[in-house]
Amino acid sequence: MSIYKNAIASIQIGVEDYLSPDDRRKLSAVRNIFAGLLLLYKEKLCDLSPGYDKELFVKIDIRPHRDEKGEITYLAAGKSKKTVNVQQIKDRFSTLNVKVDWEVFDQINRVRNDVEHYYTVAPEPVIKEILAKSFILIKDFIYHQFQEEPVDVLGEDCWRELLQIADVYESEKKASVDSLAKIDWKYGTLERAVEFVRCPACSSDLIKTDDTVLYSNAVNFTCSSCGNPFSFTEVVSSCVAEAMYGESYIAMTDGGDEPYGTCPECGEETYVFEEGCCLSCEYEMQYGECVRCGAGLSLGDQINEGLCGYCQHLYDKMIDE
Ligand SMILES: [Zn+2]
Ligand SMILES: [Zn+2]
Ligand SMILES: [Zn+2]
Repeated sequence: MSIYKNAIASIQIGVEDYLSPDDRRKLSAVRNIFAGLLLLYKEKLCDLSPGYDKELFVKIDIRPHRDEKGEITYLAAGKSKKTVNVQQIKDRFSTLNVKVDWEVFDQINRVRNDVEHYYTVAPEPVIKEILAKSFILIKDFIYHQFQEEPVDVLGEDCWRELLQIADVYESEKKASVDSLAKIDWKYGTLERAVEFVRCPACSSDLIKTDDTVLYSNAVNFTCSSCGNPFSFTEVVSSCVAEAMYGESYIAMTDGGDEPYGTCPECGEETYVFEEGCCLSCEYEMQYGECVRCGAGLSLGDQINEGLCGYCQHLYDKMIDE
């Protein structure tokens, strides 16, 4: 039961860190609560481990063994104390049929990673977001996987604090999602990308718009956390990058075509090939094939007004002579 106790202690200390007036402790709030969440997952793996080794499933390297009687058991390899990482927890939960909302978990993990790497003093709205989302996962997990009342396990102070943060966050988030949904984003990719809008000033994801127009690159946002007004053009490239991260990654590792590129018109990294235009300025590629040799033309070739790089080179040489 010690992993479970550690998990709860870690979450409680995280909340104390969060409530501390010392700003430097906000980062350790994030670390402790995230560590607590992972410990809960590891406790579940122990819980499901066979009786002969209750820590078996948290060990990285598990191998089958056969004794003299021909009986097969699984044993942790060597004396390695190494325990499972996030991906291995996901894999084991999936075959052990333990449900976690991994989409929310991945959001938390990504934001947590950014916060730990890019900030010395983490922005308050992002801390609240991480705490709110972690709380949802923590309370559901305690309730469904350990059949306990989260309020009893976490203690009333810790529970009340997290509940309040989560309530405020969720209602602001709902208002944000509702206001963004009023806009007709026109392009499917853009509709996906808008989910990744964050305030350029404080990184909050609680973004609202009063505009109700059909998509145009002039949509204005306001940050619900810090009040900062900003326009869509300021954030569209980072939103597209986030939304297309998966496709980009596959293109990079499997050698396929990049899903988006630099727009020759506005210079933003928002020319999405699937949409056939730039999501920032709606520029469409003018020349598909070289008029001289028929070769397919890229975004970079557009500047040559219908010639591929090679034919342009020949043409330049001819002019020079
Ligand atoms: Zn802000
Ligand atoms: Zn453009
Ligand atoms: Zn050509």
